[in-house]
Amino acid sequence: MCLFCKIVNKEIPSNIILENDEFLAFHDINPKAPIHILVIPKVHVNSFNEADSELMAKMSNFIQKVASEVNIAKSGYRVITNIGVNGGQEVGHLHFHVLGGAKLHWGHFSDADPKGHF
Ligand code: AMP
Ligand code: ZN
Repeated sequence: MCLFCKIVNKEIPSNIILENDEFLAFHDINPKAPIHILVIPKVHVNSFNEADSELMAKMSNFIQKVASEVNIAKSGYRVITNIGVNGGQEVGHLHFHVLGGAKLHWGHFSDADPKGHF
């Protein structure tokens, strides 16, 4: 069973913010912003690349509720999902990072030459 499935099953503790039958939101153990929440489906899905549109529609609503719950809906926030090796995904269970609580930085994500890829 994967790490986040164990969190869903409460075999591994987490600091839960919001939960319903299908989704769970909890604080990231290694926050990269004043507010850094992970939102996951309770069902195991490897990544965004395997997520169907019905799941994504419901997950979007849940993420919006999480943002309201922690009071960042008005001030603004960022939603990120890493996919696969190049995306930097470390946990193979679909999760959205919800980051906020301060003005976030934005920058280059890779030093590789973009022209070399296409
Ligand atoms: P990613 O690199 O997109 O797969 O993100 C994985 C995230 O999971 C990282 O931000 C980690 O800090 C976070 N993480 C790993 N283990 C735990 C845990 N037990 N509880 C909460 N967050 C975790
Ligand atoms: Zn899982």
